[in-house]
Amino acid sequence: MEKVIIVGGVAAGATAAAKTRRLSPDAEIIMIEAGPDISFANCGLPYYIGGDIDSRSKLILQSPESFKAQYNVDVFTNTRVLSIDKEAHTISVENVKSGEKSSFDYTKLILAQGGRPIKPNLPGADQNHVFTLWTLEDMDKIYSYLDEKNPKNAVVVGGGFIGLEMVEALAKRGLNVSVVEKMPHVMAIMEAETAGFIEQELHSYGVNVRTNAGVTGIGSNNVTLDDGSNIDADMVLLSIGVRPTLQLAEDTGLSIGEAGGLLVNDKLQTSDSDIYAAGDMVEIEHRVNGKKVRIPLAGPANRQGRIAAENALGGNHSYKGSIGTSVVRVFEAVAGTTGLSLKQARALGINADAVVVHKEAFTSYYPGSEPVSVMLVYDKDSGVILGGQTAGYIGADKRLDVIATATATKQTINEIADIDFAYSPPIGTANDAMNMAAYVAENKMSGYSPSVTVSDLDDYVADKNPLYIDVRDVFAFDKSHIYNAANVPLDLLAENLHRIPKDRTIIVYDETGKKGHQALRTLIGAGITDVVNISGGHTSLQRHAVAVGFSNIEINILPVEEKSLEEEKQQSKDEANQDNTAARGL
Ligand SMILES: Cc1cc2nc3c(=O)[nH]c(=O)nc-3n(C[C@H](O)[C@H](O)[C@H](O)COP(=O)(O)OP(=O)(O)OC[C@H]3O[C@@H](n4cnc5c(N)ncnc54)[C@H](O)[C@@H]3O)c2cc1C
Repeated sequence: MEKVIIVGGVAAGATAAAKTRRLSPDAEIIMIEAGPDISFANCGLPYYIGGDIDSRSKLILQSPESFKAQYNVDVFTNTRVLSIDKEAHTISVENVKSGEKSSFDYTKLILAQGGRPIKPNLPGADQNHVFTLWTLEDMDKIYSYLDEKNPKNAVVVGGGFIGLEMVEALAKRGLNVSVVEKMPHVMAIMEAETAGFIEQELHSYGVNVRTNAGVTGIGSNNVTLDDGSNIDADMVLLSIGVRPTLQLAEDTGLSIGEAGGLLVNDKLQTSDSDIYAAGDMVEIEHRVNGKKVRIPLAGPANRQGRIAAENALGGNHSYKGSIGTSVVRVFEAVAGTTGLSLKQARALGINADAVVVHKEAFTSYYPGSEPVSVMLVYDKDSGVILGGQTAGYIGADKRLDVIATATATKQTINEIADIDFAYSPPIGTANDAMNMAAYVAENKMSGYSPSVTVSDLDDYVADKNPLYIDVRDVFAFDKSHIYNAANVPLDLLAENLHRIPKDRTIIVYDETGKKGHQALRTLIGAGITDVVNISGGHTSLQRHAVAVGFSNIEINILPVEEKSLEEEKQQSKDEANQDNTAARGL
């Protein structure tokens, strides 16, 4: 009879234990967890701190007792696995409370030890007001500190998804919050314009965003940055990444891979044939390019837990790799990424390109509609979708999952263009943002409608002296435009064609890219051939400018709409249909 021991009792471990039982009614199954809890929702921790989740108990999905009752798994909490004797097939454990030691034998072992937040070696990082967040205990410490000490100013170090969820949570608790990020923009895994959407939201809720900035020290009431400035802080959260827990595996002589995670094959088997592993501690293949990566996310951890259990019991299930789909909600703004970003794809030597559309998430005439932004990244040679990003207040998650599915199944842009997506007025549009993004990509690939993404714009204009033509109405133009752009509202373009030079590169843009395409086709029709449309238009220009700025163009950033946590978000006004009055600047 199989005797399966699982080390670690959260996402990957608890899933592996439950799956093992479902596959084998008679296996002996033991799950050992160093902490006091199993199967807790660590992804939900920020929402309890922020008050969205009102009861701590809702975060605990199973107890050792319920797990035993439901799955007949013997669970040992507060018990750390100290060593593995792979020849003897035994493990030694210690009860972390009593110090009592014991050992177990196994036929198959599944390691699901996860990782822990990286604690930087910073002066002052060991003070009582400095926290990391990974477990319920971490959450409880933060919660008590907020209740008891009533801090006023928080600094979150690290602008990744956990950091930003905590920014929101702490703002909801009434603190003045700053986020410090070493990279040029928050959500470093996203393109600058996607991150810019999130940064706009942070600014509008009064969050102090400091990018390209490192923390050099933490004092009792402030943090010091590498430019010598200080930010008031009577509470600091360090959220700069996760390090896999590998000491036990290393001590056991299991191989570590090139990406710094525990090495497993496609069956999630380690270098020892009776030891499997799953979750944040392993490195796996990126499903798009086959490179070894570590993707510490709950979805992959759960699926790997299932597969490791299946294979430990003699199955032959290959893990196909991960595309790293991740999504974040910051206040009301949602942004996500899946597969490869444009910069990642190009860094891998892929002839990649991208397009961006901003289109209403559902019909504009139905109350409450908002734009959703879709960036599709694809292989220019084959049209195969490599990944993408989405952003918006509504419907960004739905489009992200479409891109994830397309990426994982290697769909082409032509295939996405032809798919029927769900439509009824309060739900979608008859021409979904995904269809539209695919059409735009088709038009770009075929040369019918050349466009440039805002991330490529600086390079594109570097050796040119282009004429920018802003085809929005004068009201939009007056608020913000590329410095030196001419303003020729689309309705007036035809009658002004004779004033547009034929010997200069023309760069057109509108608010979203849609009317820019129409303007481009008008210009090409008039024999002006050196013309390109800015993909995503002024909306993308703004977001990129907010996140990282431009080197070779100048554009003023629109003031943020101030939002308060109490008020309902105001619907943005669509000024696109306002009267046009004149063509200027030619
Ligand atoms: C605040 C927060 C928010 C998150 N939000 C999201 C999200 O929105 N979406 C998403 O996809 N992911 C999110 N994640 C990440 C997700 O929670 C992790 O990817 C997932 O928990 C990984 O599961 P795991 O089982 O591999 O590791 P873990 O959850 O880290 O569990 C590993 C367990 O192993 C135990 N262990 C380690 N060594 C031993 C030992 N020697 N003996 C016994 N036990 C041991 C540890 O105590 C730990 O409890 C979030 C994480 C946090 C902390």
